[in-house]
Amino acid sequence: MRTPLVAGNWKMNGSREANRALVSALKGSLGDIQGVDVAVCPPAVYLAEIATDLSGSVIALGAQDCSDQEKGAYTGELSGPMLAEVGCRYVIVGHSERRERQNESSAWVAAKFVAAQSAGLIPILCVGEQKVDRESGRTENVVAEQLDAVLDAAGVEAFERAVIAYEPVWAIGTGLTATPEQAQEVHAFIRNRVASRDPRVAADLRILYGGSMKAENAAGLLALDDIDGGLIGGASLDAAAFTAIANAAGERVVA
Ligand code: PEP
Repeated sequence: MRTPLVAGNWKMNGSREANRALVSALKGSLGDIQGVDVAVCPPAVYLAEIATDLSGSVIALGAQDCSDQEKGAYTGELSGPMLAEVGCRYVIVGHSERRERQNESSAWVAAKFVAAQSAGLIPILCVGEQKVDRESGRTENVVAEQLDAVLDAAGVEAFERAVIAYEPVWAIGTGLTATPEQAQEVHAFIRNRVASRDPRVAADLRILYGGSMKAENAAGLLALDDIDGGLIGGASLDAAAFTAIANAAGERVVA
């Protein structure tokens, strides 16, 4: 059975005051939610504080990135063990904003994935195509390259303790959303690709959709067979919108 996951990627947003208000609202609105796992991924500087605020709640904590190294002379980086120590359960790796701005290659993302798991974290591996890839019919090639790099480095069994987020880059923060058909097609492609290495791992693997998911379009996307939750950017900063998405996911449990 795949329990859906709805994770909020706050990106570089927030302040102590704004975070306190958001966390408090989410604890109130999500307090007794069932049938869905929920997580928030705030900026790293606030993680320890938010871990304390979240203690005793159903909301798990995640980070937005981690180093591929465990410790040492890596100025500005944060290791998996550090993130685990301050209370993180999840960590996003390979978000398209980092692949683009920090030039993270698929091999580097794979190394981060392995390092995160070594620290006991659950990686949320982001994959997805640019607009130009979709328009030139290369969506599956791009997603396959990003996914295979991690399958080769970590082994398919590693996906027993990982989550994938399919995030078409052209839909992130743009207000454009993949249609349910477009999303389902790529989600099924991802699951089949993992299944070609191990069908059992693929059947249990949670594949989230990310890209302008909102309260208004969540139910249509979450109703699809291979969509097991969402990675939510903009809408995760609005407690009512994030709660509505989590509620929509909670109504669906895949046997
Ligand atoms: C994201 O950044 O992971 C994301 C899906 O953003 P948005 O929901 O704002 O498109």
